[in-house]
Amino acid sequence: MPKQRLVVIGNGMAGARVVEEVLARGGAERFKIAIFSDEASGSYDRMQLADVMNGSQDESQIVLRGFAWYRENQVQLNGGQRALIVSRPARTVYGPAGVVEHYDKLVFATGSSPYFPPLENLFDANGERLSGVMGFRTLADCSTITALAAESRCVAVIGGGLLALEAARGLAGNGCEVHLIHSGPQLMNQHLDEYGGQLVQRLVERAGVHVHLNRAVRSLTGQRRVSGVVLSDGTGLDCELVVVSSGLIPNTWLAYQCGLTVERGIAVDNQLRSVDDRDIHALGECAQLRERIHGSKEAIFEQARVVAAQLLGSDSSARYHGQCRLTMKVMGTNVASIGDVRAATAQDQIAEYRQPGQTQYKKVVLRDRRVIGAILIGDVSACSALSRIFESNARLSDAEVADLIAPTRAKAVDWARVA
Ligand SMILES: Cc1cc2nc3c(=O)[nH]c(=O)nc-3n(C[C@H](O)[C@H](O)[C@H](O)COP(=O)(O)OP(=O)(O)OC[C@H]3O[C@@H](n4cnc5c(N)ncnc54)[C@H](O)[C@@H]3O)c2cc1C
Repeated sequence: MPKQRLVVIGNGMAGARVVEEVLARGGAERFKIAIFSDEASGSYDRMQLADVMNGSQDESQIVLRGFAWYRENQVQLNGGQRALIVSRPARTVYGPAGVVEHYDKLVFATGSSPYFPPLENLFDANGERLSGVMGFRTLADCSTITALAAESRCVAVIGGGLLALEAARGLAGNGCEVHLIHSGPQLMNQHLDEYGGQLVQRLVERAGVHVHLNRAVRSLTGQRRVSGVVLSDGTGLDCELVVVSSGLIPNTWLAYQCGLTVERGIAVDNQLRSVDDRDIHALGECAQLRERIHGSKEAIFEQARVVAAQLLGSDSSARYHGQCRLTMKVMGTNVASIGDVRAATAQDQIAEYRQPGQTQYKKVVLRDRRVIGAILIGDVSACSALSRIFESNARLSDAEVADLIAPTRAKAVDWARVA
């Protein structure tokens, strides 16, 4: 039987992972696979870009799949080739310089781009973004930021979430003064509560980063090259480099151009199939399931399994139900966040463990004895058990809750059985 053609647009965490999952299920027998990637490299781990920036790793150490991997697996990698047009009637994707790929199944994994808020003086007289104002997403951004940091005395990072913390981590210790400026009252407010935010802030400050909360950046100064930022309270900070990490915009233009429904992301059902076209899937930070983008590493790995199972028909019941888990390291300390981390009603119960003076925090939010959210900082060994319990909606006894937040887990509870 002739092979079907599978085309994947985007070779980031989602695109490369879905190809790997397809191959792991024997997909090479079934599909001739081609990838469009507008980045020239093979696939690499974005989560380690900060290590490249601070010099603790070099670029080669964060490569996940080099060119040889694609050759060995007979995957056609169109590296440095941006997919420009998708024709659904012709089932064809067009790239630059005559690169054309026909498909039977198409996967969008185009990720997202940094959002630049409408700051005064963001653009120069020619409408170009001021030089020295950067987003932080790719290896190319990383190289430019590192070069600019080397000639800068002071750097401002705008934002208080995961990417802003990663940028601050990469820049800290590079010889320049680093200021993290966030309009909210705490760091990581989407994923942590107030106490968790304070612990993370302590870690960041311990690394030498100056943290400014409750103050937004109002405008930039400088003619062609940025020379500083002005904050909402009128104070100014002279700096030669500004890294903006205040949100993401899903890369959906291509999907929109070919007539797929795009809201914030490409609209998909829980098989991660476009709501308009059964032969097109989307996953990662370009896809939207039930009004949300599910872009963490854990979510993407789960999505890649579902898409691969759907493509190969190996498990037609495979569904993605939404994943609310984020795991990361803040300045070397493990942090995990699951579901709703704040109690929402008077009936919600909270069980927590704090170790004063230490970066140790465990919190479980319960509703009707079921876990609806959790935070782990420092010791995240309960993360997998907590995720399973969260997803299974199991009811917990007092002893089981106590075990989850114990400083040292007693292993008295068989969590696999509970979940
Ligand atoms: C510095 C940093 C640190 C992070 N740390 C963590 C962490 O600790 N934990 C965590 O859970 N998550 C983390 N994340 C988030 C995680 O990396 C992202 O959620 C994930 O990379 C999203 O994967 P994706 O494949 O959807 O998008 P991406 O990884 O952005 O990949 C999309 C790819 O598609 C390409 N592309 C777009 N349009 C086209 C086109 N038309 N043609 C060809 N190619 C195209 C893009 O250039 C890109 O290479 C971090 C992200 C960054 C940037």
